[in-house]
Amino acid sequence: MLVPFLDLKAQYGSIKSEIDPAMQAVVDSCAFAGGPFVEKFEKSFAAYCGTLHCIGVGNGTSALELILRAYGIGQGDDVITVANSFFASAEAISLSGATPVLVDCTEDDALIDVTRIEQAITKNTKAIIPVHLYGQCADMDTVLSIAKKHDLLVIEDACQAHGALYKGKKAGCMGEAGAFSFYPGKNLGAYGEGGAVTTNNDSIDKKIRMLRDHGMQEKYKHAIVGKNERMDGIQGAVLSVKLPHLDAWNDARRKNAALYRTLLKNNANIRLFTAHDDRSSNYHLFVIRVENRDVAQDKLKQKGIATGIHYPIPIHLQEAYAGIWKKGDFPVAEKMAGELLSLPMFPELTEEMIQEVCKALKEVL
Ligand SMILES: *Cc1c(COP(=O)(O)O)cnc(C)c1O
Repeated sequence: MLVPFLDLKAQYGSIKSEIDPAMQAVVDSCAFAGGPFVEKFEKSFAAYCGTLHCIGVGNGTSALELILRAYGIGQGDDVITVANSFFASAEAISLSGATPVLVDCTEDDALIDVTRIEQAITKNTKAIIPVHLYGQCADMDTVLSIAKKHDLLVIEDACQAHGALYKGKKAGCMGEAGAFSFYPGKNLGAYGEGGAVTTNNDSIDKKIRMLRDHGMQEKYKHAIVGKNERMDGIQGAVLSVKLPHLDAWNDARRKNAALYRTLLKNNANIRLFTAHDDRSSNYHLFVIRVENRDVAQDKLKQKGIATGIHYPIPIHLQEAYAGIWKKGDFPVAEKMAGELLSLPMFPELTEEMIQEVCKALKEVL
């Protein structure tokens, strides 16, 4: 049996009758850049996340960068994030002009090791960006209390965490602001690129609306130097159709994850990450740890099972940051990078497919 890693076509098939007319309506009205379709989505996504504001932008990386810029964070400032994440978590800090300061992750949940945050704080530190990686929220109570003690902003990288919960609260509503990505493969994916900022802060909302549109508040009057990071009308329309399905899709992923856990537990060759009782992951990814990962991945591929690695190289060892950090700086992230294996995970994944993946995995190991 062939098991894909992700199946965007299956999802489109299930909502085609809603998506096609919604996209046609954008074309009919020619509201391509920003406009009413984006505004409608912004209102519904803010309500979904439990924030006062949502600002649609071009992608998740820009969402993070614009939040930092809106708070006046840039050159000379330090911003803390985690070594085990997608590169963009740190890249956005660099793009703002600030300096990324990394903290290792834990072996238990692959998330930022909150016991190491305080030692990373310098006199220049302005913000902490916890990443809700793979869809599980970071330990926000601890992050928020450290931030309060040291007078730092908390900006959530919720780019993988649409609908994930921490003590009943949605990802993106706990910090000063949250950044989301609607890259097609995310749990809430656009049909192209997209991103959003969520916040309860009125002045940050206004500032980001200006920053995403060339620093304009009024047409052709540029108060500040911004960027072009408007969301496309098509993406606003697609996301508005998809948002009402998000909870059901996340629940289907949770059900899939529960089956994976049942089938893979108590196996000496497989390590599972802790799913914390006070959180509900949206299972953007289902990641396990195995030794000889590359061999295992190859053998699974030969059996028709597609897997992924998130991520093979920790941020501090990326060539783009050569000379800033060295091997050994974040040993947990380094060790895990050689063992992480992401199994197929999407709402339409069948029980039969999961059985097949687990059977093949056990044979391979
Ligand atoms: C996807 C992602 C981003 C960046 O989002 P883009 O829309 O691809 O720019 C940032 N952080 C994390 C953790 C992500 O997974």
